[in-house]
Amino acid sequence: ASRPSQLNRKDDFPILSRPVKGRRLVYLDNGATTQKPLSVIQAESQYYEQSNANIHRGVHWLSQHSTDLYEQGRESVRRLLNAARAEEIVFTRGTTEAINLVAYSWGWANLKEGDEILVTGMEHHSNIVPWQLLCERTGAHLRVVPVTDSGELDLDEYRALLNTRTRLVGIVHVSNALGTVNPVTEMTRLAHDAGALVLIDGAQAVAHQVVDVQAIGCDFYVFSGHKLYGPTGMGALYARYDVLNDMPPWQGGGDMIHTVSFERSTYADVPQRFEAGTPNIAGVVAMDAAIRYVEDVGLDVIAAYEHDLLQRATEQLLALPGIRLIGTANDKAGILSFVVDGIHPHDLGTILDTEGVAIRAGHHCAMPLMTRFGIPGTARASLALYNTEDDVVALAAALRKAQKLFGTGQ
Ligand code: PMP
Repeated sequence: ASRPSQLNRKDDFPILSRPVKGRRLVYLDNGATTQKPLSVIQAESQYYEQSNANIHRGVHWLSQHSTDLYEQGRESVRRLLNAARAEEIVFTRGTTEAINLVAYSWGWANLKEGDEILVTGMEHHSNIVPWQLLCERTGAHLRVVPVTDSGELDLDEYRALLNTRTRLVGIVHVSNALGTVNPVTEMTRLAHDAGALVLIDGAQAVAHQVVDVQAIGCDFYVFSGHKLYGPTGMGALYARYDVLNDMPPWQGGGDMIHTVSFERSTYADVPQRFEAGTPNIAGVVAMDAAIRYVEDVGLDVIAAYEHDLLQRATEQLLALPGIRLIGTANDKAGILSFVVDGIHPHDLGTILDTEGVAIRAGHHCAMPLMTRFGIPGTARASLALYNTEDDVVALAAALRKAQKLFGTGQ
C-alpha cells in the first residue's frame, strides 16, 4: 500500500474546525466514537428531505425508493466485509446489540449445561456480559484466554482451552483498550478444528483496516457504524448464511414474519427474520455514506497512514519521562494506552482537555483487562484518518504540561 505522510482529510469533518475551550480541537478519542464527514451528515438529512417512507411493505413509489436505499446499505456492508451474500448482513443498533442477538438467538437454541463459551481476556464488556447472562441461564461455562504482559493473547493457552465442549469463541479483532490486533484467522481455524463457532468483535477494526470475513473464515462478525465515521445507533451483524438461516428469531413483531395467526406464526427468511419493526432507515443510509467515504479514501491507505502515525505517536510518548505504555504488541492499530507516573488518568484527561486535546481515561469497558495489568485504568489516545502529526505533537506537549503542573516527570 502507498504510505501518504498526510491524508489531509480534516476539512471533510465540520466539527474539527470548531474550537474547544478557545483552542484548536485535537480529537484523539476515536476509539469511543469517530467524527462524521459532511457527506454522512448530508446523506442523513437528504434522506429525510427527499426519500423518507417506511420500507418493505409500501405499494407507492417513495416506499420502494426508501427500500432500495435501505437494501443498498446492506450491499455496502456486504462489500465492506467481503461477505458472500447480502442476506448474511443483519442491521442492528451496533456491536452490542449484534452480540446480544447471537447470544439470545443462536445461544438459546444451541447451548446446554456443561458447554463452554471461550472469550479472551481483552474483550470489551459487550463481548463478555451477554455470554455470562447466557451461561447463567443455560448452565454453560465461560472460559477466558489469558493475556500476556505485552498485551497479546497467549495462543498456547488458547489451544489448550479449546476442547469438545467449546461451542463458541468470542475474539476482539482489535482491542479498544490496547490496540492489539489479534490473529483472528489462525484463531478461527483452531476453533473450527475443535468444532466451535467464532464471533469476532470488529468494533475497532472496520474503520482501520481491510476486513474480509471469507478470508478470516469466521461465523459471525460485528461492528458499529459510529466508529466508522457513520451514525450512532447503527451497526451490523455478519453471519455465515447456513448458521444464520438455522437461527430462531429473537425479537418478534412486524417485518420479521411470514404469516401470523393466534395459533401460530411463521417467520420471514433471513435477514428480515432478525429485523423486527421499523428499522433505523436513515441510519442505514448514513452508514452507507460512511462506508463509501472510507472506500473512497481506501482502507489499505488508511491502515498504512494510521500505522505510521501510531509509530510516530509512540516515539513521542516514549521520549517523555515517566510514561508506561500498556499494550506493546508487535501488531497494533491506532490506539495508545498509557499510564503516567504520579498522575491519575482522569486528572490527565482533564488537564489535556484544557489544552483542547480530547482523550479518554478509565477502564475502557474492559475491567478484567485492567485487573490483569493491576491498574484501575489508562489514558487512551486513539487515532482516525483525519489525525495528523500536529495532533500527535499537541498530545505530547499537553502531556509535558500536565507533568510540569504535577511536578512529575523530572
Ligand atoms: N467492542 C469494542 C472493541 C468496542 O471498542 C466497543 C465500543 N467501545 C464495543 C464493542 C461496543 O460498541 P457499541 O457501544 O457501539 O455497541
